[in-house]
Amino acid sequence: MPVQPEPTIAASHVNGHRASVLDKCTAFTRADELKAQGIYPYLRIIETGQATEVVVGGRPMLMLGSNSYLELTSHPHVKARAIEAIQQYGTGCAGSRVLNGTLPIHIELEQRLAKLVGKEAALVFPTGFQANQGAISSLVERGEHIVADKYIHACILDGAGLSSGRLHRYNHNDMDDLEATLAGLPAGAPSLVITEGVFSMEGDVCNLPEIVRIAKAYGAQVMLDDAHGLGVFGPGGSGTVAHFGLTNEVDLIMGTFSKSLGAIGGFIASTERTINYLMHHARPFLFSASASPASVGAVLGALEVMEAEPERIERLWENTRFLKQGLMDLGFDTGASASPVIPVVIGDFERCLQAWRLLQDQGIFVNPVVPPGVPPHRSLLRISVTAGHTHDQLTHALQGFEAVGHQLHLLDRHA
Ligand code: PMP
Repeated sequence: MPVQPEPTIAASHVNGHRASVLDKCTAFTRADELKAQGIYPYLRIIETGQATEVVVGGRPMLMLGSNSYLELTSHPHVKARAIEAIQQYGTGCAGSRVLNGTLPIHIELEQRLAKLVGKEAALVFPTGFQANQGAISSLVERGEHIVADKYIHACILDGAGLSSGRLHRYNHNDMDDLEATLAGLPAGAPSLVITEGVFSMEGDVCNLPEIVRIAKAYGAQVMLDDAHGLGVFGPGGSGTVAHFGLTNEVDLIMGTFSKSLGAIGGFIASTERTINYLMHHARPFLFSASASPASVGAVLGALEVMEAEPERIERLWENTRFLKQGLMDLGFDTGASASPVIPVVIGDFERCLQAWRLLQDQGIFVNPVVPPGVPPHRSLLRISVTAGHTHDQLTHALQGFEAVGHQLHLLDRHA
């Protein structure tokens, strides 16, 4: 007679209480604890539009935590283009791109984006997250490999998890480890190397020439997520790949609209054949409603402003240099940042939240980034500089950081 398995119901009864999938929600108290200590930094309600000065809790704050690098979310032309698109097409498409959700402005935007980054074609997704997730999960199949930097964004990891391929991660920006990882794969196995152009939390730039050289030596394809490089690097803001002159060598370029381009959405640019494949296989493209007319109109407007006002990119870089130099002169650790994303590395989790709180009290809005967003003991305050910040605002920010640095003895080792 076969042995009967233990009835599983017994395991789900603890002290007479039947286990529920929701038990973990009751047990999750970390956020409440941080709130009780006054150092819960998330979900602050911003009562005004995105700008260098915002209002939080009725109080004006200097915004140093927005990814609107070119300050386009409130640009009159960008707004006008969004309103025009709503007037012409309404507020939503009520369907996926493949069925009833393709408008002439979707096609126009895809052609413009492809041209901007120098690829044959592009495909717009409702979010950048979906662009990465959909492209990676549909391209990489069983027996194929994804080789990605350890610091890559969650949506790349999720795309890898949803694919049938195997994920391997190399140490952040470590070219020897990239090479060793590729060398360890079965000979001839198809593989896709994925990096960010500008890393989203630390603002450092990938070593694209080496990545391309090593990938090609192993017959791997290269995909670059340029969420934070588009509008910032390259001629006319065309991105990190163009900055390095490697447009033909990088197989897939991903970009978002939620940073420099002043809206929401994302895209993949590649060869016409690859885009044609994604259009018929990427699940978020097939099964999620198409990007709204307002977003598409806004991005068309943002691309027009980027062309008409190239001085915005210059201002962004002037501001970036000024703030980063100021922070370094004060003795803060700004990591290897080489972009408008500037980390102030604090290290300890709670100290980082205390520093965040003191800055908040002074009316300075920054974003704390703690594990798992960064490795353990590398909690940091993430600053993003925009083209709209004034010299006075950035000087005020430096004064705020200096005061907090002294209050929490963050600068003592430099004294
Ligand atoms: N990639 C990177 C590197 C990002 O930083 C982000 C957004 N934080 C995304 C992808 C996702 O883009 P979106 O917010 O437009 O969905």
